[in-house]
Amino acid sequence: MRDHALQILQSVFGYDSFRHSQEEVIHELLSGKDALVLMPTGGGKSLCYQIPAIVRPGTGIIVSPLISLMQNQVNALLQSGVRAAFLNSSQESEEAGRVKKALMAGELDLLYVAPERLLSPGFLTLLGRIKLALFAIDEAHCVSQWGHDFRRDYLELSVLHEKFPQIPRIALTATADEATRREIIERLGLEKARVFITGFDRSNIRYSITLKDNPRQQLLRFIEENHTGEAGIVYCLSRKKVETTAKWLNEHNIKALAYHAGLSAEIRAGHQNRFLQEDGIIIVATIAFGLGIDKPDVRYVAHMDLPKSIEAYYQETGRAGRDGLAAEAWMTYGMQDIVLLRHMIENSEADEKRKGLERRKLDSLVGLAEITTCLRQALLAYLGETYPGSCGNCDTCLEPVETWDGTIAAQKALSCIYRTGQRFGAGYVIDVLLGNETERMKSLGHEKLSTFGIGTELSAEAWRSVIRQLTARNFLCAPAEGFGSIMLTKEAAAVLKGEVKIELRKEKKKVKKSKKPRIRRGRGGVEKTLAAGDHQLWKALRERRTALAKEQGVPPYVIFHDITFMEMIESRPRDLNEMSLISGVGEKKLELYGRDFLAIINKYSIRP
Ligand code: ADP
Ligand code: ZN
Repeated sequence: MRDHALQILQSVFGYDSFRHSQEEVIHELLSGKDALVLMPTGGGKSLCYQIPAIVRPGTGIIVSPLISLMQNQVNALLQSGVRAAFLNSSQESEEAGRVKKALMAGELDLLYVAPERLLSPGFLTLLGRIKLALFAIDEAHCVSQWGHDFRRDYLELSVLHEKFPQIPRIALTATADEATRREIIERLGLEKARVFITGFDRSNIRYSITLKDNPRQQLLRFIEENHTGEAGIVYCLSRKKVETTAKWLNEHNIKALAYHAGLSAEIRAGHQNRFLQEDGIIIVATIAFGLGIDKPDVRYVAHMDLPKSIEAYYQETGRAGRDGLAAEAWMTYGMQDIVLLRHMIENSEADEKRKGLERRKLDSLVGLAEITTCLRQALLAYLGETYPGSCGNCDTCLEPVETWDGTIAAQKALSCIYRTGQRFGAGYVIDVLLGNETERMKSLGHEKLSTFGIGTELSAEAWRSVIRQLTARNFLCAPAEGFGSIMLTKEAAAVLKGEVKIELRKEKKKVKKSKKPRIRRGRGGVEKTLAAGDHQLWKALRERRTALAKEQGVPPYVIFHDITFMEMIESRPRDLNEMSLISGVGEKKLELYGRDFLAIINKYSIRP
C-alpha cells in the first residue's frame, strides 16, 4: 500500500516525492492507526488524509469548519480527477440528496462535511451503513476553548471514536503551542495517536516590523514598491479602521475590499469570493477573516495594528505564501498599540487569571516587535523551536539594529514622569525634559522642577523612542483611567536606583518622503524573479488560467498554481510528456489542460 501511496502522489497530484512527515503520516493511517499532525500552513497537510482516503477502501470523511474551504478543496480534487464531494448548509436539498446517494453507492473517495451536519443523528446512522476509509478532523485547534477559532460542535467530535472505534482518525492543525495540542488530544480522545510535528519555520516568508509613522502612507508605499498587482491581506483591529483603510487604498488605485463581522453575510461572501477568484485583490479585514482561507498565492500579510499574541501573529502571517514562493509578513507598530491593547485587556470581562495570561502574551509580542536580534529565531523560539544562527530573511537580519546604552536616559525620563506627578502624556513629559516652557507648564510650576531641561542631549523623537521602549518593557504603563497619561510601574524603581542597565535600540533612519505622490507601478514581488523576456509568457499563462477558471466558476489556482507556471517557464516543456514532468501536473490536469498551455508556451518560445 505504501507504493500505492507514492504512485497516487505522482499520477494524481503530479508531485515527485513526499514532503516533511507526509509519508509517515500516510503510512500510519494505512495501517489503521490514528495520527495528530502539526504542520505549518502550506506544509502539505491535505495530502496526509487525501491519499490514504483514496488508497483505503471506502470513503474518507473530512470534518472542516468552513464552507468556502470545503468547496475549494473539492474543486481542486475534482480538477485532479478525484471523486470528492461536500455536504453543508449552502446546498439545495436536491444536491445534498445526490451527494448522499453517491456516498451510499460507494462512489466517493472523499466527503467533506460541516461538523454540525456530521453530528446529526440521521447522518451518523447513515455512516454506520457505508464503508469508511478514515475520519479527518481539519483545523483541529477549533476544539480549543482558549483559541479564537473555537467551535462548539468540535467538542462533540469524540463521538466518532465511540461509534466507529475501528476507523483510523487524523486531526490536523497549524497551531503550534503545547496547550492547544494537549487540548486536542484530550477532547478528541486521541491519546493513542502518534503525534507528528514538523518544523514551524516558514522560510519563504520575510518578516518585518516597522515603526509607525503615518501608517497608511507606509502601507501604500509597501504595496506599491513590492507587491503591485499581487494578492494580500491587510489586518486592522477595528471595523472602522478596516473601512477607512480599504477606502484609502481604493482612492490610490489599489483594488481593496473590506471584510469584518459588521458587514452582511452576503457582502462578506461576495468579497471573499472575489479575493479567491480574481487575481491581485487585497482584503482589508479584522481577524474575522482568515480561518480556512487556503488561497496559495497570497503574497503578503500586513498588520496595521498589533495582534493579540505571538501565536495569533504567526497564524495570521502564515496565510501568506502557502505555495512556497517568496512572501512577506509586514507590520507597523507604535506606542499606541501597546497602550490600546493593554487597555483592552484591563477593561475586558475576563477573570484575573485570564487577564494575567493575556498580559503575558501581549508582552511577549511587544518584546518581539522591539527585538534587536533575528526575528525568525525569536518567533520560533517562542513556538518551542530552535533556529540555528540568523535567518538572513527578516528585517533585523537584513538591516541590523544598533543599540545604545540608554540607562541614564531612562533614569531621566522616569524621574521626570515621577516628578510631574504621573498625570501627563509623553508629549508633555518630553517638553519638560527638553526645557520647552509652555503656559500650561508655568501654571503648574513645572519649569522649576529639577528635571526641567535635563534632556537636551536627545531630540524629541529620540525621547519618544525611549518612552516607547520603556513602556514596551513594562517600566512604564498607562493607567486605566487617564488614557494617554503615563505612570511608573514597580519595576521602574530598579532602574532609578541604577540596578539595571538599559540597552535601547537605535531607530532606523527614516526614508525621506518625496513631496509628489509617486506613481510607480512596478512589477510585483514574485514576478520580479522572472527573467526579463518571460513576463509576457507569465501573463499569457495567467490570462488563460483566469479564462478557464471563469468558465468553470472555480478559483484560478485550482487549475494550476503560480509555482507550476514558474516551473513551466523555466523548463519550457515541448510536448505532453515533458509537460507531465512539471510538478503539479497530474494525469487528469494533463489531459484537461496540457495542450492548451503547451500551445501558449510554444508561442512564446524561440527554439533553435
Ligand atoms: P496546508 O493545508 O498544510 O496549509 P496544503 O495541503 O494546502 O497545505 O499544501 C500546500 C501546498 O503544497 C499546496 O499547493 C500543495 O499542492 C503543495 N504540496 C503538498 N504536498 C506536496 C508535495 N509532496 N510536493 C509538492 N507540493 C506539495
Ligand atoms: Zn532573521
